[in-house]
Amino acid sequence: MRDIKDLSLSGLEAKLKNWEEPAFHARQIFSWIYKKGAADFSRMSDLPADLRKKLQDNFYLFGLKLTKKLESKDGTEKFLFALKDKNFIEAVAIPEKNRMTGCLSTQAGCRFACRFCASGLGGFQKNLSCGQMLEEALYLKNHSRYKKLTHLVFMGTGEPLDNYENVIKAIRIINSPDALGIGARRITISTCGIIPGIKRLAQEGLQVELSVSLHAADDKTRSEVMPINKKYPLKELITACRGYIQKTNRQITFEYILMQGINSGLQNARNLIKILKGLGLVKVNLIPANPIRELKVTPPAEGEIRFFRDYLVKGGLQVTLRRERGEDIEASCGQLRLRHAQK
Ligand code: SAH
Repeated sequence: MRDIKDLSLSGLEAKLKNWEEPAFHARQIFSWIYKKGAADFSRMSDLPADLRKKLQDNFYLFGLKLTKKLESKDGTEKFLFALKDKNFIEAVAIPEKNRMTGCLSTQAGCRFACRFCASGLGGFQKNLSCGQMLEEALYLKNHSRYKKLTHLVFMGTGEPLDNYENVIKAIRIINSPDALGIGARRITISTCGIIPGIKRLAQEGLQVELSVSLHAADDKTRSEVMPINKKYPLKELITACRGYIQKTNRQITFEYILMQGINSGLQNARNLIKILKGLGLVKVNLIPANPIRELKVTPPAEGEIRFFRDYLVKGGLQVTLRRERGEDIEASCGQLRLRHAQK
């Protein structure tokens, strides 16, 4: 049995041809899965009965098992899923005005072990398949309170550029008007700075948004909080980002988690201005650290956060300050999975 969501539209058409069925049924099947939220093949009423049977015998539609759903006071909803092998992954639905942003996991566990992030605590388990990521998105669309999905961010557990092929394949299906039809500009890939992945993405011809988790602007601090910096140090990372901007003409957002006593002082702000100035199309997104019990990370005081932001603005950078959503349901990266594992 295979996950039907691992097939692109042309892949499904090829399969139908192989069965000597008309290829146009592929669009109908896509529409049932991605637009109408069909829960099983037998409901696909405009398909011939024998085709429905064939689909049922060869494919499954859903493979994740919903284990827990949490709702925050602010409307954020978090879904915890068990994979067949008992690994856990999580996805989050974040409502905001007319938007509904889905946050997807790309791997079970994570191999990058950033010091502030709960996802790396248990190490790496496995890459998620294209179909599993699409299933997270479908769950959010069909089972979240507002029953819609307008934006997607690949910012859940795992590193998207470490699962490159599956992520890009999923994005093309999310993007396709025959499937979820979410515009590429409404899809964000967030990376800890995998340089070969950034270079490859620049050649992909996709209009997706790129976020780079920077979190420090000197190699010493960055290597301490993000071990991947030893492999892909700042100078090379910034050069790759410059190349990406030149090639795609797209803006890059640099994520910067403010951590008390680690990266939120005046010198850190100066360094940040120094490395980003001259890149052109960039934005800095400041995120006061979400405290995680197991990790000794806390946000700076309000005054320090504001000072840091104002300093960057005065230095000529475009800056936003993100407030964490769903704090009361441990919706920050990897937290729910972590709690679940401890129970
Ligand atoms: N591996 C990718 C995507 C997952 S992490 C990457 O590194 O970008 C994505 C984001 O999770 C981080 O940039 C940060 O915004 C958020 N995050 C993780 N731990 C956090 C914490 N303790 N507080 C606030 N945000 C956190």
